Amino acid sequence: MKLKQDKKQDKAKNPNAKKGWKELPIGTLVLEPGSSLNYKTGDWRTFRPETDFKKCIHCMICWINCPDSAITVKDGKKIGTNLDYCKGCGVCADECPVKCIQMVEESKYRK
Ligand code: SF4
Ligand code: SF4
Repeated sequence: MKLKQDKKQDKAKNPNAKKGWKELPIGTLVLEPGSSLNYKTGDWRTFRPETDFKKCIHCMICWINCPDSAITVKDGKKIGTNLDYCKGCGVCADECPVKCIQMVEESKYRK
């Protein structure tokens, strides 16, 4: 009981004090809609898709299959990839019917 009171007092003194484990939200639950925008899956990427727009036929198969909705589209045409959310899974490259997406090692861009 005393420990609980001490914690409350600590928090009152220091509002930036770390939360105790009992105060943390339960994992794997979506507590508010739209929160996925705050989670930039692009941080995981080890390969980056590069699209050859000379060959792209704008069929949108990559857009339909991308698990992170990272394909950017304008006026019904693919215009790029949102690298904040592209995690480099390679599904788009695999599904592209004309094979105009190459997966390139991310390290090539981070030298
Ligand atoms: S799947 Fe390939 S051809 Fe179709 S829009 Fe995507 S990049 Fe272009
Ligand atoms: S590599 Fe994966 S996450 Fe990135 S654009 Fe292609 S399908 Fe989407």
